[in-house]
Amino acid sequence: MKIDFNKNKDGLVPAIIQDAKTLNVLMLGYMNEEAFLKTNQSKKVTFYSRTKQRLWTKGEESGNFLHLVNIKLDCDNDTLLIHVNPEGPVCHKGTDTCWQEENSQKYGFISALEQIIENRKNQAHPDESYIASLFEKGMNKIAQKVGEEAVEVVIEAKDDNEDLFLNESADLLFHYLILLRAKGYELNDIVKVLEKRN
Ligand code: AMP
Ligand code: ZN
Ligand code: ZN
Ligand code: ZN
Repeated sequence: MKIDFNKNKDGLVPAIIQDAKTLNVLMLGYMNEEAFLKTNQSKKVTFYSRTKQRLWTKGEESGNFLHLVNIKLDCDNDTLLIHVNPEGPVCHKGTDTCWQEENSQKYGFISALEQIIENRKNQAHPDESYIASLFEKGMNKIAQKVGEEAVEVVIEAKDDNEDLFLNESADLLFHYLILLRAKGYELNDIVKVLEKRN
């Protein structure tokens, strides 16, 4: 890895610290060559602290180490992207990230859809919202809808109309997310169960 430590004249390159699993950005630090080498040797992320003016292994006092997973260099060799497994909260103010965010797993559009389902459940009128009307009908009806959509997926899987298969699959996932919400769960709870089995 040919890192351009001299672009900034002070021998430092920024290192973006990203959670290897959730992909949330946790913090930003700076490394000189020594910090980079120590990080690779110890497998614990070590910065050059501009305030302390010395090598600083994140977690050296708090025990909240950043365990190294891998390091990537950007297109012009002057910025590091470091994947880590964090041990405890990353920010010295006690939060998971230095941007006061929870380091929870997010699923992009699916998470946005889960939020919409939650909002409709709590705020929408059953006459105006299909989701709200399902919640009003109750658990049995919601579970039954999942069953129906699953059967439709089975039927379309046997056929060769790809468009119908994709649409029934989307129906199934959509209604399954509603069922999870009705049971007080979210998709991540199921992912955690799968991870435990692995
Ligand atoms: P630690 O490395 O976690 O043992 O923390 C030691 C000291 O480093 C703290 O008291 C802070 O001054 C500083 N520090 C720790 N974590 C951060 C962070 N995420 N961003 C900036 N400074 C930090
Ligand atoms: Zn760059
Ligand atoms: Zn912080
Ligand atoms: Zn359907």
